[in-house]
Amino acid sequence: MTLGATIVSVRTPDRTGRVEDIVLGFDTLEPYLTKSRYFGTIVGRYGNRIAKGRFVLDDKPVQLSVNSGANHLHGGNRGFDKVAWKGVPVEGREGVGVVFTYVSADGEEGYPGTVHASVTYTLTEENTLDVSYEATTDKATPINLTNHSYFNLAGRGRGDILQHQLMLNAARYTPVDATLIPTGEIASVEGTPFDFRKPTAIGARIDQPHPQLKNGSGYDHNWVLRDIPGLKHAAHVTEPKSGRTLDVATMEPGMQFYAGNFLDGKLVGKGGRSYRRRSGFCLETQHYPDTPNQPKFPTTLIKPGQSYATRTVFTFGVSK
Ligand code: BGC
Repeated sequence: MTLGATIVSVRTPDRTGRVEDIVLGFDTLEPYLTKSRYFGTIVGRYGNRIAKGRFVLDDKPVQLSVNSGANHLHGGNRGFDKVAWKGVPVEGREGVGVVFTYVSADGEEGYPGTVHASVTYTLTEENTLDVSYEATTDKATPINLTNHSYFNLAGRGRGDILQHQLMLNAARYTPVDATLIPTGEIASVEGTPFDFRKPTAIGARIDQPHPQLKNGSGYDHNWVLRDIPGLKHAAHVTEPKSGRTLDVATMEPGMQFYAGNFLDGKLVGKGGRSYRRRSGFCLETQHYPDTPNQPKFPTTLIKPGQSYATRTVFTFGVSK
């Protein structure tokens, strides 16, 4: 839908052919405006957190809106998730889709520069959902777009996601402080509950007494993906009972794996089912959090004349 260029539902079969909707969301528009936790939306202009909403650009301080404790999260009070995009259907050799466009004004939520953004969703014959992002600006500005779908491969509203087997193609992650801002360290996952290089149940270690799990109330961290150009495989998820699988490939250097720790059962979603803690997980392909304040992280700065272009592909399947 045009509000937030949001994915409202994704319906896929299980291994017996039974089709279910596997993303969290609402049946009506209103809660997307007032209660949403970014269910299925695009987040921007900068997905994830910027410490205190503050950074220095060309020797000048920039102050963004602050909407998550002391920090800026997912583009601020009225981020790209809460604005109306224009949607135009497209049909090509690859499949069918929608191109969403949005013009973000200079100064919106404190960001410099007018940004023309577009997100193209294409559904292909191979059961992939291809998400292509593009943006240009007339003043230097950070841009970090992602999609914020919450998946539950058992079917949305069907309990928690703790039994899902997750594989993340990442040897390192970015530890955070208690407000979920990266410390700047790039740490190895080896020997920690953050090592998902072999398929492991999301719930197997999520409540271990690891200081980083305490900071995130579970998994809410950015994994550092392999540093290779082009599209690279980032994640494979299997839900053992239904057999449904999800693969994520991306051009982005990082991915936030968020286990839905802050869902608390108060939100009633599609079909009248409430979304309890950890009843959906997000795999948000992106640059690392707080990059504008982290000189060692790959830059998110886009300048006039440059263009932002990135792509993420979700593949839906079943294991036998
Ligand atoms: C963040 C969480 C946040 C959630 C908002 C995720 O991308 O990592 O910390 O609570 O978005 O629903």
